[in-house]
Formats: sequence, C-alpha cells, structure tokens
Amino acid sequence: MWFVHKQVILTKDNLIKRRCVGSSRCYFCDQNETIQHLFIECPLAKLLWRTIHIAFNITPPVDIESLFGMWLAGV
Ligand SMILES: [Zn+2]
Repeated sequence: MWFVHKQVILTKDNLIKRRCVGSSRCYFCDQNETIQHLFIECPLAKLLWRTIHIAFNITPPVDIESLFGMWLAGV
C-alpha cells in the first residue's frame, strides 16, 4: 500500500521511466497502464470495486488519494 501511495509501484509507465523495454499497455484493456488506471480506471478494477460496493457497501474510490484516505487518516 505504501508503494501505491508513493506511486512507485512497478506499473508499466514506471517501468518505462526506469528504461525497461516493453509495451505500456494494460493487459486487461489495452489502455496505458498507470497506477491510477490499474487501481481505479481499468474496467477490471471498476468491476472489482462494484463487486466490493455491492457486497460490503464500500463506496468505490475516485482516485488513489481517496483509496487510501481512510487508511492514511488512521495511521
Ligand atoms: Zn486496464
């Protein structure tokens, strides 16, 4: 969670910044893979968030800060 919050998780955009060769496309939807995309905007992530919303009545996050807002407020 700390890596995601600091936005240093090894998504494809961060790998390219580190000069790793390869596609920047998401494996699930062919958009550019960023942390925001992978955890919030990807259709697969949206499906998972909707499932969590239905099962646990937890509101889906709109960005990375809101994803960790409650968690960070408690730390
Ligand atoms: Zn995607």
